[in-house]
Amino acid sequence: MSVRIYIDNAPPFYSNLDTISGRITLSLSSDENISAILVKLEGESKTALERPPGAFQHWDPSLMTEKDQRQGVSRENHKVLYKVSQVFPTQNPGLGATAGSVYTLRAGQHEYPFRFKIPVYSGCLDSQSQQLVPGMKLGGLGKGRQQLQYTHVKQPLPPSLTGFPGEAEIRYYAKVTVQRPSLFKANRRWVVGFRFMPIELPRPPPSANEVYARRPYSFQPNSAYPQTFKLVPRGEVDARLPSPAVLTCNEPVPLRIIVRKLSEGSEQLYLMLLQLYLIGSTEVRAGDVVRLEPHVWNVMSTNRLVMPIGSPSDTSGTEIVVDTALWDHIPLPNTVAPSFHICNLTRKYDLDVRIGLGYGTPGNTQLQTIIPLCFQVDVSSGISPPAALVTAMAPAYDTPCLQLGDAVDGGMDVLPNYADAIANDPESLGGERRNFSGVTDLNAPDLEENSAPTGDLKSNPVPPPSYV
Ligand SMILES: [Zn+2]
Repeated sequence: MSVRIYIDNAPPFYSNLDTISGRITLSLSSDENISAILVKLEGESKTALERPPGAFQHWDPSLMTEKDQRQGVSRENHKVLYKVSQVFPTQNPGLGATAGSVYTLRAGQHEYPFRFKIPVYSGCLDSQSQQLVPGMKLGGLGKGRQQLQYTHVKQPLPPSLTGFPGEAEIRYYAKVTVQRPSLFKANRRWVVGFRFMPIELPRPPPSANEVYARRPYSFQPNSAYPQTFKLVPRGEVDARLPSPAVLTCNEPVPLRIIVRKLSEGSEQLYLMLLQLYLIGSTEVRAGDVVRLEPHVWNVMSTNRLVMPIGSPSDTSGTEIVVDTALWDHIPLPNTVAPSFHICNLTRKYDLDVRIGLGYGTPGNTQLQTIIPLCFQVDVSSGISPPAALVTAMAPAYDTPCLQLGDAVDGGMDVLPNYADAIANDPESLGGERRNFSGVTDLNAPDLEENSAPTGDLKSNPVPPPSYV
């Protein structure tokens, strides 16, 4: 017996509200008795962290394997996506299929189509979803019980993540199980992984508001020539982003740099260095153990600039906008995943802008000061939500002061309800597609045919992104 999954027209990645369809092929060399064939669409967020010595008291030891207790490892595995479809026998009451029935399939090849629609929000908080997860096993750690013990949040499905082998990963896959009635014949399974990238949830309408970070700049004059003190420029420099501060995967940073002069008759000011770093922080949580994993992406770095800013004749208060051509063609590295927050993992970002200024005369300038300016930013996938979802969510944005994060995270559940309604609409379609993050791999769990998943985190052959 051999069973396989073939996905129709698999795109580079799937997103929320996409339909994933395909077929199961079952090849039999002889007649076989089958109870049922189930296809599951699963997403899991797994974390595993070593516990510091003496940190066992807050975690139910009955939820840990003996091996984990011995090794002092704390784990969480959240079924953020769990959908089941029985493709054989079809659950059509007219066919008279009943629990416990056994069907004999003839030798040869059999095909069963399947189809799922990927929801917007994670499902592990949903008690109905938890009940669908295979329950407690005798003498073991039932996944259903584990799901009930964890702390869950209802959040948009997180992106696939594989940058932390053995510590944290988010995987999505389709799995088929051929159930066989004989105690002596194990069920057959096959798994196909797929990449997932969340849609960008509808945002409030754009406005002209900006967020900014500002610092003064000044230079140390040459004390040997006090007569030159008045020639030393001083002022302030702003780095600005549209509000709310959201960067988009694979797009340039929508940054503006504004220099405000607060001196007159000073020497020429120059921009001499510009560096943009995206600083990611992944919070990995497993039981009562938490670890922060930092990452730094060098978006751009140039230190050979001699770009005049304004002119010596500028009056105090003059504002000069630095030419965005320096960075407006440089996209975020494609290894940057969107920000996300799920039960046991959170990814956040800061944008660090470093502006180097100097003054003097052409041919006689040198870097004098570096101004660091830092923002908290969100990174979105850039995958447009379907128009139906935007329309459905529009009334929520008429409410003053509504923040999307608050609405999703807190007691206001109107947005998930809209999203769930759209997710059940078979006609709704996803939006524009972009290149996917290179961090994430096609990532089904390793699964030998004829055996169940071990539940252990596997090391992943994909190298981590290149950090600075
Ligand atoms: Zn959860």
